[in-house]
Amino acid sequence: MKMEQVSKNCFAVLNQKNRMCDANSGLINLGGGVVIDTQSDLSHARQMIELFGRVWSGMPRRVINTHEDGDHVWGNQLFHNAEIIAHRAVPGRMPHVADPRESQKLLNGAGLVFSRLILRVLHPGVLAIAMQLRQDYDFNDIKLALPTTLFDERHELNLDGTEVDLIYVGPCHQVGDTIIHVPAERVLFAGDVIFRQCAPIGWAGTYEKWLKVLDLIIWLDPDVIVPGHGPVCGIEGAMEMKAYFEYIYEESRRCFDRGLTVMEASRRIDLGPYAQWHGPARLYTNVERAYREFRNEPVDASWDLAKTFDAIYRVAKAKGIEVEF
Ligand SMILES: [Zn+2]
Repeated sequence: MKMEQVSKNCFAVLNQKNRMCDANSGLINLGGGVVIDTQSDLSHARQMIELFGRVWSGMPRRVINTHEDGDHVWGNQLFHNAEIIAHRAVPGRMPHVADPRESQKLLNGAGLVFSRLILRVLHPGVLAIAMQLRQDYDFNDIKLALPTTLFDERHELNLDGTEVDLIYVGPCHQVGDTIIHVPAERVLFAGDVIFRQCAPIGWAGTYEKWLKVLDLIIWLDPDVIVPGHGPVCGIEGAMEMKAYFEYIYEESRRCFDRGLTVMEASRRIDLGPYAQWHGPARLYTNVERAYREFRNEPVDASWDLAKTFDAIYRVAKAKGIEVEF
């Protein structure tokens, strides 16, 4: 984990492995301090606090959650008395999509010889992601601290005279997606609307919506984007995400029209330059999203996570690439 200063008063903490759960955090070091997203477990959250603590004068008064996924909210509890700000949908969804006990159960299961044997046969992808997460994460002792200040479309903060705009852009990657713009410093915290140098995953929303939001980010024209995952970038980060989605959508359409299944399509689609990204076989989830649209299925239908992780595992094996989530 490392800290980067991205403008006069804005900072980022980045998880360099850039795999599942390695989310970034941000800091706007004005108006008593605002932290954006709080890491995936308590030990990562404490490291983040230690790094930001080198530049702030005290624990921040405010926390923003860019959306409801566990990897962005599981350090919330360490910010006692902070105002926690998020889109109105977030507190209702967090207990369901970000239950730390469920995730810890998965990690515990992979630690037991017997259940590991069963998983290897029945759910090799579930075992693989559990083994990967066990290398870095421990979800014990996490207690959900829900957002306390909710907004609908926009929320503006004035930090010592500097305007900070929270813009609701969901559902796109998740229902509660929010981007945070600091116009005076030309910085944008994108949450998981932008994955950088790793394949995106989306749990809600449509391609059309996600592409529109990327256009909005390009229009806002920040000098620096702090993505939800991966290294800090400029506007090219939004453009690359667009190119990825346009490519996968088109390829998925071609495969769908030929009658291929999601798995067959995922195996067949050439990763091209995206093979260099982390977790390239997460491609499966993006093909699945496209197929849901082609079949006119509800885009907010829930995901069978075991099936999804097994599918990502099988796609990686079929392509002869490293299994990475
Ligand atoms: Zn994330």
